[in-house]
Formats: sequence, structure tokens, C-alpha cells
Amino acid sequence: EFQPAGRLNGIALSEIVQISERAAELRRQGVDVIALSTGEPDFPTPAHVVEAAHQAALAGQTRYTATAGTPNLRAAVAGQAGVGTEQVMISTGAKQVLANAFLATLNPGDEVIMAAPFWTSYADMVRLAGGVAVVLTCDAAQAFKLTPAQLEQAITPRTRWLLLNSPSNPTGAIYSEAELLALADVLSRHPHVWVISDEIYQHLSYVPFTPFAQAMPKLADRVLTVNGVSKAFSMTGWRIGWAIGPLPLIKAMTAVQGQVTSGTCSVAQAAALAAVTGPQGLLADRLVELRSRRDMMVDGLNAAGLECPVPDGAFYVFPKCPEKMPSDPEFCRYLLDKAGVAVVPGRAFGMPGHLRLSFAYGLESLQQGLVRITRAVEAL
Ligand code: PLP
Repeated sequence: EFQPAGRLNGIALSEIVQISERAAELRRQGVDVIALSTGEPDFPTPAHVVEAAHQAALAGQTRYTATAGTPNLRAAVAGQAGVGTEQVMISTGAKQVLANAFLATLNPGDEVIMAAPFWTSYADMVRLAGGVAVVLTCDAAQAFKLTPAQLEQAITPRTRWLLLNSPSNPTGAIYSEAELLALADVLSRHPHVWVISDEIYQHLSYVPFTPFAQAMPKLADRVLTVNGVSKAFSMTGWRIGWAIGPLPLIKAMTAVQGQVTSGTCSVAQAAALAAVTGPQGLLADRLVELRSRRDMMVDGLNAAGLECPVPDGAFYVFPKCPEKMPSDPEFCRYLLDKAGVAVVPGRAFGMPGHLRLSFAYGLESLQQGLVRITRAVEAL
């Protein structure tokens, strides 16, 4: 009988994937399902980016690249961040950056502090690497953000990382510069705690955004910034993300990557280079579009009776589940089966009693989705 390794104990298929699969199954049966469940922009990858990949492939850039990434892409990312090229490594999506970081640094039992709600993969990634996820609940009353007092209390001698995500998936919360400084102040008293700042939604900010490393240059020798092209440039399938951090850490992460993937796809790196160095105007255009979708969703959900705060960034809303419903997974199941709308329960993000809806979909789907949700809530 097949026995998975012990490190897989309690680690299941992501709830988001499960819902998407159920929605796909219903569609196969002929049911008209509106999916507001996945975290990827509906915009196409920009044409000049696709063209760059095409040209790179034709020019023979089809071999293994250096493990830490192509020199051009590393230099372009480093230049924008104001660091040396050696401090940048390119990975297979922001996701592999995080996996590399945890595998390269966590000894069994080492703790990683994270605020809930958090992106679904964080806690399981930490566990897979042998660490312990220390989850601090940060509810709507504190705008879903970690406070300095919570951080101070959670730090132990085993704490290795504070994992921050701003703008946040699933709440869109953005830490202001003052809030980052207050957290950094706590960290300055605990030199053994390092910071991962996942800024993958940086370019999807509706209020001013401050990168952690910029807010607190004094901590630069223990900050790892995670970013990439997936969300900003609609390049989720190209799988390019990067790490920016202190040299010894980047070297350790490169050693991990060298044994796991040998480095990421050559053609996709050429495409990412075009995205990073090419025209940036499309980011602002798309942000305008996303902001109007956001406003429509927030208004529509509040009108339907689902209490929904306005997110400052990313493309998700995180409303409360209706009180008449016993639990968020049951409400999501009801929405999918009875109303044909797929959304993700807050439980998947470590915060039950909420739902996550993505508004990175066309207006028509969003409007239809709102009509269906409104009717479904009325029918409760
Ligand atoms: N970090 C956060 C907060 C995300 O929401 C996601 C994707 O959903 C990722 C990282 C992973 O990004 P990538 O697709 O580049 O691996």
C-alpha cells in the first residue's frame, strides 16, 4: 500500500484547486458556472513580451541558463531595486522563491510568523520544509494587519522569519510606511528574526505602496524581497519570480534551486526581461480598469448584505459570510451548487467566516456573479 512521507502529514491539495476542479466538473456536466475563485488576471500577456519569447527561442536561447537566472534579467531586476546583480536570483515563480528560502533556512522546529488571513500556500510550505507556522489572527477590526504588539509577543528564540505579504492575498491590505517602520522597530530588538516581504502584488496598489526594504534600509542584511511578473504582467503561466536579498542567503537558495530545478525556463526569462525593461504604461491602464471592477464588487456585495471592506491592493475582496450560514465552506458549496458561482472559503486562508472573490475577471462575469450571489443570499 502506498504510504506518503511523514512530511506530508496534514498537507492536502489546496482548497482553491479543489474548488476550481469542482467548478470544471460542473461545467463538463453542462452547468453554467461563473468562477471568481482563481488568482490570476484575465488580461493577456502583453504582445511585446510574447514576441520577445518568440525571438529568444528562434535565436537559440533554449538551453539551461545559469542556476540563479540569466545575467540580463538578474541585472535588470537588480538595477530597479538598487542592489548588486549577485543579490538577485530568478526562480520558477514567486512560489519557488519562497520554497527555496524555507528549504535553505529552516531547521526542524524553526518558527515562521505569519498573519492570518494568509495566502493558502504559506503555512504548508513552511511545514514541508520542516518548520512551524506561527499564525497570528489579524481580523477585520485591525484591517487584517499584524500589529507590533502581536509580533513582539510571538517572537521566541526559535523564530527564524517574519513573513509579510503586502498587498495581501486574500484581503488586499497594504502596510503603510509608518506601519512597516513600527514592525521594523520590533525587529531591530530581535536580530535573529529575518523578514520575507512578499510583494508580488506591488504594482496592483490603489494606495501608495512602500517596499519593506526601502522603508527600513537598516535591516537590509536580513530582508528577502519576493516579487515577479506573474500578477503585474499577466504572466502566471510563464513561471518567473525573483528573490532580492543578502548574498549568503541568495547563495544558499541557489544551492537548493540547483538541485531541484537547475534554474528556470530560458525563454520565459527572456519574456520577463521584456516585461521588466519594456513599456510600463500598461500597468497604470490595467490598474484603472481593476479599480473600477473593485468598486463595483465592493458596492454589489455590500448591497447584497455581505459586509465587504474596500481592499487597498491586489484583485481580491474578502467579505464576511452571511450570518444565516453555519460555515464559510458550506456557504461556498451552496453558492457553487445552487447559484453557479465559485468562490473560496476564508478557512483556506486561515480565517473562517469569510469568502475570497477575485475580481480579475471581465465585467460581464462580475455583474452576473453579483446578480447570482444577491439572489442566493436573498433565498437563505
Ligand atoms: N505570493 C502570493 C501572495 C500569491 O498570491 C501568489 C500567487 O497566487 C504567489 C506568491 C505565487 O506567485 P507565482 O505565480 O509567481 O509563483
